[in-house]
Amino acid sequence: MVYVKEKVPVKEGLFKWQDEEAKLIVAKCTKCGEMVFPQQSFCPECCLETMEPVTINSIGKLKCFTRITAPPPGYKGSVPYTAGIVEFPEGIRILGITTEKEVVNLEPGMEMEVIVDTAFIEDEKEYVMFKYKPVSQGED
Ligand SMILES: [Zn+2]
Repeated sequence: MVYVKEKVPVKEGLFKWQDEEAKLIVAKCTKCGEMVFPQQSFCPECCLETMEPVTINSIGKLKCFTRITAPPPGYKGSVPYTAGIVEFPEGIRILGITTEKEVVNLEPGMEMEVIVDTAFIEDEKEYVMFKYKPVSQGED
């Protein structure tokens, strides 16, 4: 049993997670509407500091995905895992880790929901990260 004192996000500013529904935070340009994830202050279209944080829909469609067996540098979660690109109704596509270990549970076009899950536990802190979970799962 690992004693956890507090939950903290792996990185600040990526997602809202203390509410019931997890939501990704993107930067949206107040001039042209361009959206960028993760957030940045400059709009890549206008080249101005016109970005403001907005939350987007928590459900999108899975565009493509792959199975990862070798953890990238700095990754402290377990392997294998699957990562996928989800397109949200707002039009932005965002890469993320899914809740599935194997791609057999995934198919292109399926609806994925943003959830917040444990990434790893270190120094009595539970680090949480957003993940994509198939919408059809666990609905009973
Ligand atoms: Zn812009």
